[in-house]
Amino acid sequence: MDTAVIVVTVAVALAALVAIVAVAVIVGRPTAHVERPSAVLSSAFRRAIGVGLDSGTWESIEEALLEADVGVEATTHIVETLRRASPTEVGRAVEVLKEGLVTEMSARDRSLRLEGDPAVILVVGVNGTGKTTTIAKLANRLLKEDKTVLLAAADTFRAGAMAQLGVWGVRLGVRVVGGQEGGDPASVAYDSVDSARAAGTDVVIIDTAGRLHGQRNLMAELTKIHRVAGGERVDEVLLVLDATLGQNTLVQARQFSAAIPVTGVVLTKMDSTARGGIVVAVERELGVPVKLVGDGEGLDNLQPFDPVRFVDSLLENP
Ligand code: GDP
Ligand code: MG
Repeated sequence: MDTAVIVVTVAVALAALVAIVAVAVIVGRPTAHVERPSAVLSSAFRRAIGVGLDSGTWESIEEALLEADVGVEATTHIVETLRRASPTEVGRAVEVLKEGLVTEMSARDRSLRLEGDPAVILVVGVNGTGKTTTIAKLANRLLKEDKTVLLAAADTFRAGAMAQLGVWGVRLGVRVVGGQEGGDPASVAYDSVDSARAAGTDVVIIDTAGRLHGQRNLMAELTKIHRVAGGERVDEVLLVLDATLGQNTLVQARQFSAAIPVTGVVLTKMDSTARGGIVVAVERELGVPVKLVGDGEGLDNLQPFDPVRFVDSLLENP
């Protein structure tokens, strides 16, 4: 480890201690399981089929799908399938609807690619979507799989952001490489990969800034971070999207994927929305798989995304 890395590591550790109380409060808070993501769709669906199955039912289901953020294109497909199948009993209608939703998400490889030595995961997304928390949860998962992890605090825009990652690092017992506030995030990314390679660490997870203002600078910055972190050899570029933001989620998805080759989506705060259908819309929009779903603020609230289970939960009894 060179001196610069030691210095920044120490700086981050100190900042971490300052902020440790704050995270202790967050961690101590009970996980917010507000509502099942499905509530909008399942209750509208029950209402629709409650009055019998006819053409009016399909219209109500169409409305319910749109309301659940499934998106216009996918909704049109699904309702077409329903109309064509014209199921006459409720059980069959539910089946057709489930099949329609699962088909919209199609078979995709949702596993994390971790082949590099070290494997590099770059995490991007707008501030507040849950990047840093997701990184901590992901590190926690990888540690449980007996992998060694290094975190890179390349959100040098705000000292608080680096400190937040530092706190998670202390809590998880993993090394965090940081930089000066306002320093070059790309050099933090570079140092972290370099340092992980030297130490034989399995996975580097890079946290990045996500300020909305000066978006163009941000995108240029992310492109540079991506390049110095290995470019095409970066194993995963995970775009973190907040499921509660509805259509804004899609706007963000477009902006980020235009600037950087996103390989997977993490949809956070699925515990705080009644409109889980955004998963379907995001996949269609980006053409990349939703790989992970955040369902709370705790370290264990990160799940691999399973479309079949997800669709089942969408249509559970409200
Ligand atoms: P960042 O700015 O993108 O790094 O976002 P943070 O990781 O700092 O998260 C912003 C807020 O969202 C924090 O209060 C997190 O605890 C919260 N958060 C992140 N993921 C989830 C989730 O899956 N569910 C809920 N309910 N809150 C989350
Ligand atoms: Mg952050």
